[in-house]
Amino acid sequence: MLITNPFDDDHLHEECGIFGVSGSAGAAALVALGLHALQHRGQEAAGITSFDGANFHTRKAMGHVAGNFDSEAVIGALPGEVACGHVRYSTTGETALRNVQPLYAELASGGFAVAHNGNISNAMKVRRELIRRGSIFQSTSDTETIIHLVATSNYRTLLDRFIDALKQVEGAYALIVMTPEGMIACRDPLGIRPLVMGKLGDAVIFASETVALDVVGAEFVREVQPGELVIVQGTDIRSIRPFGPVAPRPCIFEWVYFSRPDSIVHDQSVYSVRKAIGAQLAIESPIDADVIIPVPDSGVPAAIGYAQQSGIPFELGIIRSHYVGRTFIQPGDKVRHLGVKLKHNANRALIQGKRVVLIDDSIVRGTTSLKIVQMMREAGAAEVHMRIASPPTKHSCFYGVDTPERAKLLAATHDLGSMTDFIHADSLAFVSIDGLYKALGKEGRAPVRPGYCDACFTGDYPTSLTDHDDSAEVDQFAMLEERVA
Ligand code: SF4
Repeated sequence: MLITNPFDDDHLHEECGIFGVSGSAGAAALVALGLHALQHRGQEAAGITSFDGANFHTRKAMGHVAGNFDSEAVIGALPGEVACGHVRYSTTGETALRNVQPLYAELASGGFAVAHNGNISNAMKVRRELIRRGSIFQSTSDTETIIHLVATSNYRTLLDRFIDALKQVEGAYALIVMTPEGMIACRDPLGIRPLVMGKLGDAVIFASETVALDVVGAEFVREVQPGELVIVQGTDIRSIRPFGPVAPRPCIFEWVYFSRPDSIVHDQSVYSVRKAIGAQLAIESPIDADVIIPVPDSGVPAAIGYAQQSGIPFELGIIRSHYVGRTFIQPGDKVRHLGVKLKHNANRALIQGKRVVLIDDSIVRGTTSLKIVQMMREAGAAEVHMRIASPPTKHSCFYGVDTPERAKLLAATHDLGSMTDFIHADSLAFVSIDGLYKALGKEGRAPVRPGYCDACFTGDYPTSLTDHDDSAEVDQFAMLEERVA
């Protein structure tokens, strides 16, 4: 895998971004723009499927949207007024072109294309049963189980078949589906993964984040609600809610790291929430220091919040080069270490002799934190304190986020003292889970826990994890956690 940003190497990665357009000439060109704005959600592969009223057309490619979907020839080969697209990291299923979405199949009712953000947590179990009944899978993607469930459903209409399929899957999904009858956008009953709806003239747009609406000039209409299916057929837009009412649990990490800071999630500016988390962190874990330095780029809003709350000056103590080619930096410990300095360098004049507070959004393995602390010390910092704008990441995500296994999560195997030693900091503190909820509060009122999925911090998973529970993997960390606590 190419390392695009050495500092991102130690983050959780959102797995996918999806974007759909119904009712606009040259829909595929808009989808390419929308996917470009969602590139931060997945950089390994991209795909677009269009429908011209008679035929479906698909192009998929490994790598970025730019370079693969910006030529007239490519977009011209994706005709039609309806199109959807997908950017991804590898989710379940290896990184191969056959797993790149949208996935497409010919069903009895005609073509069926689907773009999925999330992860079906009982996909393996459903897949085994489908294969036993004769289904032949083309990919290793969890998303393909939905297609086979639709294909084999006993219901008559395509919509009923689709609903029947969704009722058999667990986990997280935001989906954009294209059929000859129209487009369907939906979210799982808990709304774990995001999906918003916009308008561009008469065209209806769906996107993982509002920033993609901004980029194509569309107006934000509303979020697709948890458990809602929005069905677009020409100019007709219908909404149905086939699932029973349940309290939503959207992913809290969207505010911490995944979403772009210029997006609006759940009526809240991501940038403002990140600043509020930083301010909360300053209240909970103050420190005498000379300068607040963000870890670029994701730590910047929280660092501004910490600096404003604490009154300590904010400075850009780490400078990022924008001219490092992505192919230049290869994996391999020695070269990767050099890569950190190539892309990010300490602004020595601001650091020498200073007591430094570094602000980052999260610690996953701790490897990057260690390198940054070392970078500060080599630049002459008198003290280096690390403050993290999320609680310790102790648990893996099973809802479509690329998380290392628990054995590699620093906070799953270390207490605060040993984490501090591991990264060689003078002190380390995380915002509390209650503090994180407080920062998400509107008009001074913190949402009641658990109003979000916060499982990677708390282990409180809002759905069954059938495949995980079925797997032979024994949770050897339960005992370890007890020892650490
Ligand atoms: S486990 Fe964490 S990253 Fe995954 S959906 Fe829940 S809050 Fe988001």
